[in-house]
Amino acid sequence: MNKSIAAQLVDDGPLYVSEKKIYPREIKGRYQRFQRLALLVLLGLYYGVAWLNWDGRQAVLWDLPARKFYIFNLVFWPQDFIFLALLLIMAGLSLFFFTALAGRLWCGFACPQTVWTEAFVWIEKKLEGDRNQRMKLDAAPWTGNKVLRKFGKHSLWLILALWTGFTFVGYFTPIKELASTFWPFSWSGWETFWVLFYSLATWGNAGFLREQVCKYMCPYARFQSAMFDRDTLIIAYDSLRGETRGSRRKGSLPSVLERARGLLPLNKLNDHGFVPFELAETKPAPEELGDCIDCTLCVQVCPTGIDIRDGLQYECIACGACIDACNSIMDKLEYPQGLIRFTTQHQLEGQTSKVLRPRIFVYGFLLLGLLAIFAVGIIQRSPLIVDVMRDKQLYRINDEGNIENAYTLRIINKDNKAHTYKIRIASEAEITVGDALSNISLTPEEVQTLPITLITKPGNVKGVANVKFIIEQSDGDTKVTEDSRFIAPAE
Ligand code: SF4
Ligand code: SF4
Repeated sequence: MNKSIAAQLVDDGPLYVSEKKIYPREIKGRYQRFQRLALLVLLGLYYGVAWLNWDGRQAVLWDLPARKFYIFNLVFWPQDFIFLALLLIMAGLSLFFFTALAGRLWCGFACPQTVWTEAFVWIEKKLEGDRNQRMKLDAAPWTGNKVLRKFGKHSLWLILALWTGFTFVGYFTPIKELASTFWPFSWSGWETFWVLFYSLATWGNAGFLREQVCKYMCPYARFQSAMFDRDTLIIAYDSLRGETRGSRRKGSLPSVLERARGLLPLNKLNDHGFVPFELAETKPAPEELGDCIDCTLCVQVCPTGIDIRDGLQYECIACGACIDACNSIMDKLEYPQGLIRFTTQHQLEGQTSKVLRPRIFVYGFLLLGLLAIFAVGIIQRSPLIVDVMRDKQLYRINDEGNIENAYTLRIINKDNKAHTYKIRIASEAEITVGDALSNISLTPEEVQTLPITLITKPGNVKGVANVKFIIEQSDGDTKVTEDSRFIAPAE
């Protein structure tokens, strides 16, 4: 346990090794219940939100042809790219913040790879039975029963994968439209490609690759060591309490903690059943056994197939299955729980751990700052966008001998209500507008392009004059001012 966190998380093994199939054993417990709950909530959100309606349209939709992104009441236009960039930066920073604070909780409970793998494994268990039955079935020759079970499993996997791919595309093409054009089939080539591609990716990643994605493909597993320190929450085996491991009959040997009763009272166990770390000093004499009975249940339940008793490893996705497994053994032996537990490197070494440390403050403040900028930006975002583009021709002289400059105004009503607008010009020079510029009506989210001509008499402008286009909403107080220039002959 004296190796640094980074050193323990760096993989110095070969780039590729042929992996044995892992058959994780089912276990019940607090963390497994929590994981099941997270799975139901996240899958429910993924499959359900696509069908929600908001104001007569799909509530969450990335409308690529129209270049608009809808999230309930919010509509992001290409001009709002900064908000999407902010969202992505906040997502990245959150990962840093929560990893520094709580380790790989994301991996164990919220990562799509974990969530869909759990769903696929659940189907596998229903069709092929528990760990031992699955191992036996895989080793058995092909019989009618085996073909039936495998066929059933893959059929259900395929249905789930196709539904996942269909839902994914449903966030880019209105999902009800996509459903209604399925039969008779009239999806576009891209829609068909992405549904099949995403389905195949789900089927392959959750059905076959599983822990290999975490071990070899996920970049997060590799760079997490940069975010870990000795106060980061990790799942660890308390080797000082557990070693020397060895089997025993129930009731034949009290727990290490009980044997330490003389030195430290048991009521020092905290509310979570964690062992106070001062007890680390009370390692039993060599001839006595520690609390680990070497049942290997913690290894059998591990979805990545590692032995947490070997120390912190980058393959550990912090799912908590080994905690539940070991706690169930501790309960049977009537030993206190927590031989494997959520803890920190410092605590394992008998030191005090600090939750609030500089990097937490730095990540936290940055995150809060960005969140505040995002919220203020959204609240103050104008529902009107105006772009003014000057014509390429510098100026022209009309039939009356006056000087004209041509412009194109692009007006975008980002609101979900219709509005009318009027346009005025402000300039230090005497410049007038050649077209009617009031009562310009735009339907909700309409983009309108208006050609506009500004006119002045010869001699009013010599060279360049600044002009302002002021666009005001007739039925509200939204106002946008855009600067431009009027160009005339210098003499
Ligand atoms: S060692 Fe395995 S079972 Fe334990 S938390 Fe890590 S991945 Fe899960
Ligand atoms: S489950 Fe607990 S007792 Fe069994 S081998 Fe793992 S650490 Fe030891």
